[in-house]
Amino acid sequence: MGPQQKRSHDEAEPSLLEGIKALIFDIEGTTTPVSFVKNELFPYIKENIESYLTNGYEDEETAKDVALLRDESKKDKEAGVKGVVVIPVATDSNKAEVIEACVANVKWQMDQDRKGTALKQLQGHMWREAYNEGKVMGELYEDVAPVLQQLAEEDFLLYIYSSGSVESQKLLFANSTDGDLTEILNGFFDTTIGSKTESESYKKITEEIGVEASEILFLTDNVEEAKAATQAGLTALIVDREENDLPEEARKNYRVINSFNELFDDEEDEEEYKRLTTGDNGEFEEEEEDLGEEEGEGDDDDLEEGEEEDEGEGEEEEGDDE
Ligand SMILES: [Mg+2]
Repeated sequence: MGPQQKRSHDEAEPSLLEGIKALIFDIEGTTTPVSFVKNELFPYIKENIESYLTNGYEDEETAKDVALLRDESKKDKEAGVKGVVVIPVATDSNKAEVIEACVANVKWQMDQDRKGTALKQLQGHMWREAYNEGKVMGELYEDVAPVLQQLAEEDFLLYIYSSGSVESQKLLFANSTDGDLTEILNGFFDTTIGSKTESESYKKITEEIGVEASEILFLTDNVEEAKAATQAGLTALIVDREENDLPEEARKNYRVINSFNELFDDEEDEEEYKRLTTGDNGEFEEEEEDLGEEEGEGDDDDLEEGEEEDEGEGEEEEGDDE
């Protein structure tokens, strides 16, 4: 993925990127299949929580995670939350009992789709280990990495805004199926800056990025998020992936794309995309060489049609000349 075809914003002139300096990407349903989170990340927690707590029970970090989980379980109990599993205070002899309660509590919370701090923190630590040990890789749609790469080469600023924590976002992009992409990303935002469906969040993000709102393009699969971004002055694009069920409203009010590749709409960019996707730039370079040679021979208008006449060395070219 060399910068051989590097072009400036002006040279590229793709309409969707006109006037744009920064892009913000949602993750779930936009860069990454929703199924990755649902069918891989979450099941990983349920399948491994018991062994994770057992192996790390004496570690300071795990002890803190358990303590936070215990505090929340007590508060839930006091608040009369139904079904909560209270975690007992640790003694010298009740390790198995504490772990059993933690496992039950975590599974119960996940089944209820609760998003408490204790659960999120513990999940984050477990995913960190899973990514680091190669048990999990961040899944990206196949068009994502090549397009991000190209955008970075063209000096666009690239950000992520997702409801997953910044730490888990970084893990996903550092350990993606297309390698480590964190170096081409300029920043990460999560819901600590605000909800993804409130325009205030996008105003804050705009301030942090430091360009005009109108120079930011936000890509998401969620209409409510697109609406909030638009209200803050950003431009929003809806990404419609195969597995998504896009409401009618989306098509009426927003430009909908199926692939990041549609950000570039001129032929040169198509070529560039192909080159980055296939990793095969041989053909591309050959074409360049041919052009150079023929130019040297004093040929003129027929350069592009000349592709198939290379062997003919000019004989036919004469005839083609007007
Ligand atoms: Mg999404």
